[in-house]
Amino acid sequence: MTANVPASSPHTMNTYGRLPIALSHGRGVRVWDTNGKEYLDGLGGIAVNTLGHAHPKLVPALQDQIGKIIHSSNYYHVPNAEVLAKKLVELSGMTNVFFCSTGLEANEAALKLARKYGHDKGVDRPKIVVYEKAFHGRSIATLSATGNEKVQKGFGPLVEGFIRVPLNDIEALKKATDGDKDVVAVFFETIQGEGGVNPMRAEYLQQVRKLCDERDWLLMIDEVQCGMGRTGKWFAHQWAGIVPDVMPLAKGLGSGIAIGAVVAGPKAADIFQPGNHGTTFGGNPLAMRAGVETIRIMEEEGLLENAAKVGGYLKAKLEKDLAGVAGVKEVRGQGLMIGIELTKPCGVLTQRACDAGLLLSVTADSVIRLVPSLIFSQADADELAGILVPLIKQFLSE
Ligand SMILES: *Cc1c(COP(=O)(O)O)cnc(C)c1O
Repeated sequence: MTANVPASSPHTMNTYGRLPIALSHGRGVRVWDTNGKEYLDGLGGIAVNTLGHAHPKLVPALQDQIGKIIHSSNYYHVPNAEVLAKKLVELSGMTNVFFCSTGLEANEAALKLARKYGHDKGVDRPKIVVYEKAFHGRSIATLSATGNEKVQKGFGPLVEGFIRVPLNDIEALKKATDGDKDVVAVFFETIQGEGGVNPMRAEYLQQVRKLCDERDWLLMIDEVQCGMGRTGKWFAHQWAGIVPDVMPLAKGLGSGIAIGAVVAGPKAADIFQPGNHGTTFGGNPLAMRAGVETIRIMEEEGLLENAAKVGGYLKAKLEKDLAGVAGVKEVRGQGLMIGIELTKPCGVLTQRACDAGLLLSVTADSVIRLVPSLIFSQADADELAGILVPLIKQFLSE
């Protein structure tokens, strides 16, 4: 039976410009819509479906968990929360974890940590350094930290206490903070996602780490999108050999089950005390099982290596196929987080790619973003490029 997909959604709020399809099921990196049309999934639910769709090891584990207990409340211990926290601590070189359900919640917790860190050492009006083009979520505090006027417009007054600086410019960071005793933290994404796949350089990450140590600030790195193996390391900042003090995670951590986490190092692990923070769904048995199984399967199947290898292959292929094409500004990113920036807004390509059987997104107006599942193969990469490159060339010739 084919369901008709309504062109509009009369009863859900008008918050998304949706494409006129609905996905009914998926398998690996393929999905099918309710009319039976097949797509190659280059979006992975926006960097969420780490293991692809209906992974044969994840599905029975989640079914088992749902049959036992989904939610119990934080009045009680959740054994898998301890298992997952221990794993994240090992992988990150940090010490303690707080669980929540989304990326903005993880970032909200990070901002609270930074403010309390300041208050605990006598800073009454703590300030946090944030970045141009950053995206940290859509709660009032996280949209205030976000560097995009479109996200902020209509929601003022914004939360105060942020200083905004450009990416990859250590002198600008020093200049913006020199002599300011109220600064308590620096907060950024290692590779900006919504802002257009903009990487922080390794050298800059090392410089900021050093500055944070010298000035006793928290280094807080939002790895909600670029983390969890996507770049070929567990966390993207690890390419620079640094360890942050606070690291929000979400998206790929549960391979599709809602989950968020804030990982803290020694400087931030003891800031929250009982009563300071909490959330009803955070750390629930289903989400914790999803996190534990996601990481276990990633390790079993060597998905970090796969992300690095296939991502590198895809990026090189796109660079080669698009070389000399007027209107292609840059192909950038790392592992399976790739952005293709064009010289003109290209939002229309999401629909055209969809028509051609490929799911992707366009962000920051002119950046085609590819964040597929980490099980993506070289053959999938070839197929993706085979669909996308002609679409880009056609679009740029118009
Ligand atoms: C998606 C995203 C968020 C927000 O996550 P939600 O789960 O949508 O609240 C925050 N930071 C970054 C870097 C993201 O990519």
